[in-house]
Amino acid sequence: LHTVGICGSDVHYYTHGRIGPFVVNAPMILGHEASGTVIETGAQVSHLAVSDRVCMEPGVPDPNSKATQLGMYNIDPNVRFWATPPVHGILRPTCVHPEAFTFKLPDNVSFGEAAMVEPLAVGVHAATKARIKPGDIGVVLGAGTIGLVTALGALAAGCARVFVADLAEKKLEIAQSLSPAITPVNVTRENVAEVVKAFTDGWGADVLFEATGSAAAAAAVFEPLAPGGCVVMIGGQPDPIAYDAGAAMVREARVENIFRYAHVFPRCVNMLSSGAIDVKPLITRKFAFDESVKAFEIAASMPPADVKMQIELPQ
Ligand code: ZN
Repeated sequence: LHTVGICGSDVHYYTHGRIGPFVVNAPMILGHEASGTVIETGAQVSHLAVSDRVCMEPGVPDPNSKATQLGMYNIDPNVRFWATPPVHGILRPTCVHPEAFTFKLPDNVSFGEAAMVEPLAVGVHAATKARIKPGDIGVVLGAGTIGLVTALGALAAGCARVFVADLAEKKLEIAQSLSPAITPVNVTRENVAEVVKAFTDGWGADVLFEATGSAAAAAAVFEPLAPGGCVVMIGGQPDPIAYDAGAAMVREARVENIFRYAHVFPRCVNMLSSGAIDVKPLITRKFAFDESVKAFEIAASMPPADVKMQIELPQ
């Protein structure tokens, strides 16, 4: 492995030892956002070779499961996902991974960008589920890593403008820097629904992505939405989230829910290579492997000016 991104779930395991039903009962290797170099291949590997640079999809389903047969391998109950107890993660020199979940990198995609494919995949999956049409107006609630990659995914899918809402001014500055088609909304000063309605002559947004996981955001999730619009629930949390079904009904809103991603890693790699999506501004700090504990401590303190922190392993 070369580069490993620190994800919110890693930080959660590091500080609390658990997320939802997953409890760390023994020392566990963290990390599920990785890029590296192929150093050995199995006898049946056909499209990868030693020295290929790759990124890896961390969830490997049972190939014979009903979910996999139906193309929904991400929700296979038997999926084995890195750094989800009892499965170890990949903050380590080497790992063995199936060819079908390992993706070759073009020369112009760096290891750092490649380790961003995992969180980017969430945003691209969300944009896919939203069925964005060219020229749609989008809203993303939350300017953390997932909110920002979702904004990038929505723009790449065809949104003409994406409003990104958050409480933290630093995060909104980063959002603004990603594209002139992104409009930041500071919810400590502005009301998202009012801003979006003002921009759309009172009609509302075509798509809205909930990427905060906060109860307050979920409660008002339909307010900025146009009639016939779509809300995608991304913000993951183990507790029940309440939203206003009446507000959904009067808009005939479509609601999509996503769990991680499926079928999007090659698309993400292609978009990084073509320049359709640039994740480089989201990589705000890098650490050497022997600074890993410090890296997790800093990540746990949630510095407002940081988006994604990565650890580089010795080669
Ligand atoms: Zn992640």
